Amino acid sequence: MEYISTRNSSDHFSFKNVFLKGLADDGGLFVPKSNKPFSKEELSKLSSLKYNELAAEIIFPFIGDFMTKEKLSSLISKSYSNFRSEDVVKISDIGNLKVLELFHGPTLAFKDVAMQLIGNFYQFHLEKAEKKINIIVATSGDTGAAAIDALKGKSNLNVFVLHPHNKISPVQRRLMTIHEESNVYNIAIEGNFDDCQNLVKAMFNDQNFSNKINMSGVNSINWARIIAQAVYYFYAYFRIGNGQSLSFSVPTGNFGDIYAGYLAKKLGLPIDKLIVATNKNDILHRAISGGDYTQKKVEETNTPSMDIQIASNFERLLYDVKDCNSEATKNVMSKIKNNTYQIDNIDLDKIKKNFTSEMLNENETISIIKDIYEKNKVVVDPHTAVGIGAARKLGLEQNCVVLSTAHPCKFPKAIEEAISKTEKLPDSLKYVYDKEEKFKVLSNDINKVKDYVTNSI
Ligand SMILES: *Cc1c(COP(=O)(O)O)cnc(C)c1O
Repeated sequence: MEYISTRNSSDHFSFKNVFLKGLADDGGLFVPKSNKPFSKEELSKLSSLKYNELAAEIIFPFIGDFMTKEKLSSLISKSYSNFRSEDVVKISDIGNLKVLELFHGPTLAFKDVAMQLIGNFYQFHLEKAEKKINIIVATSGDTGAAAIDALKGKSNLNVFVLHPHNKISPVQRRLMTIHEESNVYNIAIEGNFDDCQNLVKAMFNDQNFSNKINMSGVNSINWARIIAQAVYYFYAYFRIGNGQSLSFSVPTGNFGDIYAGYLAKKLGLPIDKLIVATNKNDILHRAISGGDYTQKKVEETNTPSMDIQIASNFERLLYDVKDCNSEATKNVMSKIKNNTYQIDNIDLDKIKKNFTSEMLNENETISIIKDIYEKNKVVVDPHTAVGIGAARKLGLEQNCVVLSTAHPCKFPKAIEEAISKTEKLPDSLKYVYDKEEKFKVLSNDINKVKDYVTNSI
C-alpha cells in the first residue's frame, strides 16, 4: 500500500516511511492513496477470529513489505501477551448499553493497544538500523505512559515525553516517571497539553534539529496507531453486530480513536453513526453540529485526556471531505491556522453522514458516573462517562457501543466526587506507588527543551 500526505498527493511513501516519520515534511498527515474495502465474504471470514488473528488480517494490508505476515502475527502476540484480558479487549453490559473495555493493557488506557504494537515495530526496524532514534512525544497523560511502557529498555532508541506540569493525575504521572530504564526521559512543561504538542511539532518542523537527532514520533497522528485501533471496532462489531449496523460513541480529543472507527467503516464494516463525545473543550462538537471550527482557550476538566483544542487527526477527515484534493486541504489548514475556519454546508452534510456529536460539561460527567454506579454497580472512568452521556443525550443508546477508554482508578478525583470512594489499582500495578519518580520541569520554551534533549543523548 502506498501513502501520500494530505497536503501533497504527488509524492508517495511506504508504510515504513510513514511509520518512522509520523508527520509529513509539508506538515500534512499521511493517508493511504486508496482503501480497498473488505467484501461481505471476507468480513464473514474475519468474524470468527480471535483478537490477535483479526489484528493480523486488518493490519497486514497496510504495512506492505515492512515485514511478513508471520512476523506481524508474532509481534501482535508478543504485544498483547501482558494484557489483563484474555482476548485483549472485553465487551461488557451496563444495563442495555454495550461497552467496549479497552483499558486492560499495562498503563490502563486504550492507548496501550496501539502503543505496545508500535514499540515492537520499532524494535523490529531498529534491529537492522545503524542509527539510534529519538522519539519525542507530547501527552495529556495517557499517551506518555503507554509510549514509555512500550519503549522502555528497547535498544537503539530514547523516548522523551512532554507532559503539562501539575495538570495530570498522580497515577498518570507515576505510570510515566517511575521507570528506571536509562532510555526514558520525562519532561514536565509549565503549560498545557497544546503547549506540549506545539513544542513537539516545532521540533519536528525544524528539520536541522530533527535530522540531527534522528527524531521520530508516536503521537496519535502516527498512522500505525490508527490501524491498530481500527481492529477493535471490527472485533466489537463481530461480537455484537448480528448483521445489523452499529453506532459507536467515542470519547474524543485528538480525533485519533474515532478516526480509526471511520477507517473501519471505510473498510466495509457496517457502522451507522460515529458519535464524537467531547468535554467542554468542544471544538469538534461545535464543528460537527454547526460548522464552527474556531479554537478557544483550553479549559481544564475532569477528563484531562480530552482537554485539547487542536484535533490533529481531523485533517484526515477534512482531506476526505475535500474529495482527496490536497490543495483544498492545504487551504483549509491555513484557515485553521488563522483560526477563521467555518465548515460550509456542503462539507458539513458529508461529515454528518458518518458522524454526529455531543458535549458533556463537568457536572453532567459526574452525574453519569454516579447514576451508573447507583443503577448498575459499575464504576466508569470520566472519559467513558462522556461517551455514555453523549449517546444518551442523542437518544442513540440502541445498537450502540461505547468505547471505554480508561480504567477508573486513573482518575480518582472525579470518581471520588461522583461516588465518594475511589477505585483501586489492579494488583499488578500497585508497585507504582512505591517507586521514586524522575522528571525534569522546564518552562514552555522551545530552546530549553531542545537543549535538554541534545544534552541528554
Ligand atoms: C487519549 C484519550 C482519549 C482521546 O482519544 P483521541 O484519540 O485523542 O481522540 C479519550 N480517553 C482517554 C482515556 C484517553 O487517554
